[in-house]
Amino acid sequence: MQKLEIRTFTSAGWDENAYLVRAEGQEHAVAIDPGGGTPELLVALEGDGLVLDAILLTHAHIDHVDGVARLARATGAPVYLHPADRGWYDQAGTQAHYFGVEVDAPPPPDRELEGDSVLELAGARLEVRHVPGHTLGHVVFYDAASGVAFVGDVVFQSSIGRTDLPGGSHSQLMESIRTRVLTLPDETVLYPGHGPPTTVGRERVGNPFLAPMYGGGFA
Ligand SMILES: [Zn+2]
Ligand SMILES: [Zn+2]
Repeated sequence: MQKLEIRTFTSAGWDENAYLVRAEGQEHAVAIDPGGGTPELLVALEGDGLVLDAILLTHAHIDHVDGVARLARATGAPVYLHPADRGWYDQAGTQAHYFGVEVDAPPPPDRELEGDSVLELAGARLEVRHVPGHTLGHVVFYDAASGVAFVGDVVFQSSIGRTDLPGGSHSQLMESIRTRVLTLPDETVLYPGHGPPTTVGRERVGNPFLAPMYGGGFA
């Protein structure tokens, strides 16, 4: 089984997880959701002499994109975003202002992410799954060979994403989780946008938002 090397850079304040990901032994990497931990991610990238091939965004809430401008400027890597989150992305400055912070406006996205597509990057084969509910353009990235999924703010250890912001829908989120996350093998390790990694099986059985409907024994 191919292994992914995953390094996590958690921001102060929002506790958002930015991930630096590559297949073991690869000199190319991708960054997922570069938020406030981006300066440390850049140090790791440069320290290891890695080439950044892509900046992948699960969605465009400010805590997941506030490092995009800096990372894109430093590496020249293209930014990938689902078009349905372009509204949030283009309002990064307004979002930041709401929280009383300043951010550099991220550059326009270079590529549009599409559900049911595959990205071959940094030695990994990442399936893109469209999972609306937390935002309209939220996606998860799933690497079947290593049994890993980056799930942004869709599902967390013992919790699920909020749906009270514009574009949010609880029923849509539950449907996305049911059809596009819980259908992954139980041993799949989920790397969320906030908090520690978990697994599909653990959340199916123990997540208080999911277990009453979808729970049951480990498959
Ligand atoms: Zn979010
Ligand atoms: Zn978040």
